[in-house]
This record gives sequence, structure tokens and C-alpha cells, in this order.
Amino acid sequence: MKPIVTTPDPRLRARSTKVSEVNDEILGIIDDMVKASLAWEKEHPYEISAAMAAPQLGINKRIIIIRDDLDDKENNTFTTLLNPEIIRTEGRPIKDYEGCLSVPEIYGMVSRPSKAKIKALLPDGREVRLRTQDFLARTLQHEIDHLNGILFIDHIKDDPTAFYRLDEHGDMQPLNYETEVKNNLNLFPEE
Ligand SMILES: [Zn+2]
Repeated sequence: MKPIVTTPDPRLRARSTKVSEVNDEILGIIDDMVKASLAWEKEHPYEISAAMAAPQLGINKRIIIIRDDLDDKENNTFTTLLNPEIIRTEGRPIKDYEGCLSVPEIYGMVSRPSKAKIKALLPDGREVRLRTQDFLARTLQHEIDHLNGILFIDHIKDDPTAFYRLDEHGDMQPLNYETEVKNNLNLFPEE
């Protein structure tokens, strides 16, 4: 099992390269991503592994996987998107909680456009265009950010009220920005 890479690992901050051919190596990476997502979820009873990007396994290639049913942990199937691109975003920016397998124990209230039009390749080589909204649009924007070395915390780094943790009952509790966030070198390494 490939371990999930967490902050401040520099591979989370690199720009990933395009996939030019779907070969056994790429299929193996996809398989590892699905396995790592499901294994993580087993250890996190209140959370769902909605999606993962290859840099989260330390592989800087433009591959993401998205859970086929974002509301049902019993459904363990994922769709793979290669070289996904945001064609455009639309709609009013909406704030909602976001977390990341690579940013342990931290949640944030992140504002993102409510709709996103995405273009990507499927592993069989077909090109797809997806009109997404709400949680799916948010998740895809989060994952495509990963391929560009961007984490959700970057969008809120100057907002003292945006950071949370999940308590032992599965409820969100605000973090103290000054002591737990701002100078946390795991989250924001000095340049
Ligand atoms: Zn993430």
C-alpha cells in the first residue's frame, strides 16, 4: 500500500505533468489511489474519501479519482479523470467545509464558484466534458488545484475564522488561528 503524502511534503507543491499514454504504470497508479483512499476511510469513521489526486501519493502526474457516489460510503467505485481542466467556473461563490487527506486534522471554510465545467480524458481515451455543481464542482476544483501544487488552505491562509478541526464526536470546532494555524510550518512552510 502506498502511503498518503501529507504537508509539508514538497511533492504536494509541485506542478504535475500530463499523462500522454495510458499504460500499465498509469493503471497501477490509479489502482493504488483507489486502494489508499478506501484504506484511509476505514480509519476515519466520520469522513468520506471523496476523491484523490496522484500527488497525494507522491506522484506528480495529472490523474484524479472521484467517488461515483459522494454521499454513500458503501459505494466503493471511483471515476478516473486524466489531464482534467477547468474550462470555466460559474455561479455565485459558495463557502463550505473542505478537508484533505494530505492536510491531516484540518478543515477550512473555502469559497469556490458553485459550478464548474470540466474537460478530461477517461482511461479508455475518450474525452469527456462535465457540467458540475455543488459538492462535485467543489471537489473537482480542489483536486485540479492539487495538480497545480495548490492546497485548500492556500485559499484561506489569511482568514483567521476559516480553520476548523473535527472533534471526537465528528463535530467541527474552530481552531485558534494565532496558535494553531498561522505559524504552523507544516501548513505554511517558510519560502
Ligand atoms: Zn486534497
